[in-house]
Amino acid sequence: TKKAIIIGSGIAGIASSIRLALKGFQVELFEANSYPGGKLSEIEIEGYRFDAGPSLFTLPEQVDELFRLAGKNPKDYFEYEKLDVACQYFWEDGTRLKAYSDLNLFAEEVQTKLGEPAQNIREALRKSAFIYDSLAPLFMNRSLHQLDTWTNPQALKSYLRIGKLGIFSTMNEANRQQFSHPKLVQLFNRYATYNGSNPYETPATLNIIPHLEFNIGAFFPKKGMHDITMSLYKLSTELGVNYHFGQKVEKVLVENGEAKGIRVKGKDQFADLLVNNMDMVNAYKTILKEEKQPKLLLKQPKSSSALIFYWGIKRDFPELDLHNIFFSDNYALEFEHIFKKGTIYDDPTIYVNITSTHKSDDAPEGCMNWFTMINVPNNQEQDWDKMIAEAKRNILHKLNRILKTDIESLIEVEEILDPRTIESKTSSAQGALYGNSSNNKFAAFLRHANYSSAIKNLYFCGGSVHPGGGIPLCLLSAKIMSEMI
Ligand code: FAD
Repeated sequence: TKKAIIIGSGIAGIASSIRLALKGFQVELFEANSYPGGKLSEIEIEGYRFDAGPSLFTLPEQVDELFRLAGKNPKDYFEYEKLDVACQYFWEDGTRLKAYSDLNLFAEEVQTKLGEPAQNIREALRKSAFIYDSLAPLFMNRSLHQLDTWTNPQALKSYLRIGKLGIFSTMNEANRQQFSHPKLVQLFNRYATYNGSNPYETPATLNIIPHLEFNIGAFFPKKGMHDITMSLYKLSTELGVNYHFGQKVEKVLVENGEAKGIRVKGKDQFADLLVNNMDMVNAYKTILKEEKQPKLLLKQPKSSSALIFYWGIKRDFPELDLHNIFFSDNYALEFEHIFKKGTIYDDPTIYVNITSTHKSDDAPEGCMNWFTMINVPNNQEQDWDKMIAEAKRNILHKLNRILKTDIESLIEVEEILDPRTIESKTSSAQGALYGNSSNNKFAAFLRHANYSSAIKNLYFCGGSVHPGGGIPLCLLSAKIMSEMI
């Protein structure tokens, strides 16, 4: 049997291991951490459990597909439910909106609360579906770096639709044309943050994202987000994949333009095929530092990062749900701080994810586990300790104002994740959540390919390569990569 080595057990690394094992490879996976999952991991603090990173689950079919491929019933491994309310939105002026998954209910909600014609919502989501149907088969399911992607009939169809795909205006411009109420423009602009981009710069093509949440649905894994990692990890070990934890790969061994293996803890390990799941920028700086560097790709601006407070809250808030957004009063200025100034705005948009609303054992009785997150610039060596202390004060003041309570006195336990620790725990360059940002039209073409054009037998998967960051795209990167082999 042929042997494959995978570097990194992020969600794409695990998915790749499953796909390669099913192709008959003996797979050895080397992971620097002592646990699988990378960003998709969990933490526990004194009776509270938190999903450490991702909290929104879309396109669950991508996960199910892996179980089915292995001839298993997905439900025997991994269960999830569709959310009735995708997200709750709060503003300082007292406005509250529920984004119901039932489109009619949502349209009614915005008509009643904001006076926005229901027709505008339906039309926006129809356009979003159109972009998805036009681009997903081309950009998400195939390599951009192979000729037949550009010459197949689906591609030709997309060329004809190009004027309608939002390439020539920004997301904010398109949303201002679409909606009459500024709060809805803000709500739909927020989707740019789903891949760490700036709605005032990113092309309106990213209006593809609401389609996932509204038309297909937002989901919650019954055992929490971390179960995506654990159920796929279980499947992969059943398929014979060998995990080597606490093994940081030091070097990719290349001979005569061909990848031969890796060096880890000073020892050489050989294989017929290598798949790298580590962030590409850091990979070229470390394990590939002696190889030719793709300079243009490496200097692309990175996506935003996050500051997270994991708070154990010793009280119940019945008005809060799984996903809650407390909007900034000046969204444009908030993004200027994140992407232009490299600082944190003092009225940030706050996201509070509370899994104990759906999984009661995630917090002690009568308590809640608040994953409290704001978008922040990626790490450019700012004075983070000072910025975090200020941000915490601003977050608490804002939550106190809107929820009319003193939140600080309810915090029983606290841990913090910031751009520096995101980088040190997952090797993500500058702590960016989604690899390169999509703030310009060409971003999709400036992600690294799923294979090396310079080194034979070396392949890539994960959030920093094509098709991009976020769980569904990472899973697709594993699919595109394995289909090339
Ligand atoms: P990563 O998770 O980046 O893991 C890479 C792995 O490689 C790590 O385990 C690392 O230790 C290992 N590694 C690196 N270098 C080496 C080496 N030299 N040797 C051995 N091992 C190495 N996505 C969503 O879909 N929905 C969300 O709601 C969402 N929210 C997010 C919130 C936060 C706070 C964060 C951080 C991310 C969020 N994301 C979200 C993005 C999502 O988490 C990532 O896109 C995805 O998990 C990245 O997976 P990956 O396969 O690229 O690997």
